[in-house]
Amino acid sequence: MNKPFGEDDKAHLLLVEDDCGVYRFLLPALSAHGYRVTHARTLFQAREAKSCDMVILDLGLPDGQGEAFITHLRHYSDIPILILSARQDEEGKVHCLQLGADDYLMKPFGLQELLARIQAALRRAAKMHMRDHQYQVADVLINRVTGVISKSGKPVHCTPIEHALLMQLASQPGRIFTHAQLLAAVWGNEYIQDTHYLRIHIGRLRAKIEDQPAMPRIVLTELGLGYLLA
Ligand code: CA
Repeated sequence: MNKPFGEDDKAHLLLVEDDCGVYRFLLPALSAHGYRVTHARTLFQAREAKSCDMVILDLGLPDGQGEAFITHLRHYSDIPILILSARQDEEGKVHCLQLGADDYLMKPFGLQELLARIQAALRRAAKMHMRDHQYQVADVLINRVTGVISKSGKPVHCTPIEHALLMQLASQPGRIFTHAQLLAAVWGNEYIQDTHYLRIHIGRLRAKIEDQPAMPRIVLTELGLGYLLA
């Protein structure tokens, strides 16, 4: 259910709610505030729903408890989950949060408060998403999804090998990749002895992204072992 979304896109909410008094009020209200909403009345329908950006979840549903859907969703998705429930007990709230819900709003609730919490949750999720996909070191920005590399805001043009090397290092910044691991990942297993290839291409890569290629601050050497991204 993970899906990138920009500020301009309509965020897509999944409302899991069987109480018609609540959904008859919420569906038009959320649409009026610019959200695309899919409605599920049961756990079964919630599991069948297509990808969305956030879930608003009632706990007491005709075919089971909302907690089961939190667990189900958290197996494969980290989208925000906001619980909407009339249940008062603190233990139950804590349990939902421990299962992976992000927030809990008691019924009855005010529309403005719900909207504010939805916005906050989506903002947090968007920030997390950017943090996951972009890696910045000094003035170099590497987007791990698009593969775009820039330095001081200007695109850096790499050869396919330089690009593959940098993406490999950027997959886990701070981790030392051995010469053999990099050679195997970029050139193939039959090249793992050819460390001079690696030296040459790392040198060219540094010339493009480092301020002082002889004193690298981005692509670091671990002597005798390999390379890592700062
Ligand atoms: Ca209910």
